[in-house]
Amino acid sequence: MSEVLPQFRLLQPGTAEEAIAAKLASPSARVCAGGTDLMVAMRRGLVETDTLIDLAGIEEMTAIEVNADGLHIGAGVNLRRIAGSSLIAKDCPAVAQAALTVAGPTHREVATVGGNLCLDTRCLYYNQSDSWRKANDFCLKYRGDTCHVAPTGNRCRAAYSGDLAPALMVHRAEIEIAGPDGRRRVALQDFYREDGADHLALDPTEIVTGVHVPPSDIASAYAKLRIRSAIDFPLAGVAVACEITAASAHRFSIAVTGTNSRPVLFEAPDPLTGDDDPDVFFAGLNKLVQKSVSPQRTTTTAAHHRRLSVAALASRLARKLSAA
Ligand SMILES: Cc1cc2nc3c(=O)[nH]c(=O)nc-3n(C[C@H](O)[C@H](O)[C@H](O)COP(=O)(O)OP(=O)(O)OC[C@H]3O[C@@H](n4cnc5c(N)ncnc54)[C@H](O)[C@@H]3O)c2cc1C
Ligand code: SF4
Repeated sequence: MSEVLPQFRLLQPGTAEEAIAAKLASPSARVCAGGTDLMVAMRRGLVETDTLIDLAGIEEMTAIEVNADGLHIGAGVNLRRIAGSSLIAKDCPAVAQAALTVAGPTHREVATVGGNLCLDTRCLYYNQSDSWRKANDFCLKYRGDTCHVAPTGNRCRAAYSGDLAPALMVHRAEIEIAGPDGRRRVALQDFYREDGADHLALDPTEIVTGVHVPPSDIASAYAKLRIRSAIDFPLAGVAVACEITAASAHRFSIAVTGTNSRPVLFEAPDPLTGDDDPDVFFAGLNKLVQKSVSPQRTTTTAAHHRRLSVAALASRLARKLSAA
């Protein structure tokens, strides 16, 4: 197969309900938001469909709103708006910072929040042309029998590499889903599974309509490791949130992308208090991050390097947040 985009039929629903009806009527149809990841996958023969459901005309999915219940971001909001929103920069700084690190400015103009959260997992042996994958007998994730990363295993280890999910997770975001049975909200960390070939808890008839972030006084920050700073996916990325407890201690939560098939969220078991030696505390945090993630041989950069780097980034961000 060449890298030419195959023919497809384009449906353009005006509401979430019309999009769901289109999915029910055409089970092999795929939803398309900005298309920045989907189009590449279709050209590479990784997604085979004759019907795309374009979500761009669904107005309810393009809003950023704030009220007493918290912040709502529509799934169709583009990443340029997220990165440039003073509201998001003030209430959830990690989210604005993460959006600004996604790809380049032209991608961020069309790339959406929903597409970023539903991004497929990535692997060195998978995100390749059809002829490259064929020459390697394909792989377990799609059309093959063996995982080239973990040949004795029976599970795909491809890494979830979206930047927004960890940043939203440390702000305790929930994802909003619409389907034939109505609407539901789930904690964002429960939307993901540790299976690179099936990493989303989303039925094929459902779509993501938005994200909800509850009000909080959490300070947060995001940083990522990548090969080319101007445009690349994270080799590993980390969001850190810091909350001041009633006893003036600093409590940290951490979420990591690029190391596992799902973004990984965890909390430091103890807060940093005035009695702690900060050097000892942050060294402990560094070790905790190293133990909590499982990078695999899914990129050209060694797994151990990604483990050490993301731990160093996390402890550096945590130290900075506690000093601010
Ligand atoms: C060169 C390059 C660099 C990139 N760098 C980064 C990076 O640094 N960080 C990063 O996170 N990403 C990166 N990406 C991937 C991608 O551009 C972004 O993740 C983007 O946010 C995806 O959004 P989209 O709207 O274009 O999604 P699409 O490509 O339209 O969709 C992606 C997937 O999500 C599904 N989907 C989309 N919207 C919904 C919805 N509302 N409900 C259910 N399913 C939905 C689609 O069916 C598809 O499976 C890069 C891509 C390229 C080509
Ligand atoms: S981790 Fe294994 S099965 Fe998954 S995409 Fe990579 S080579 Fe394929």
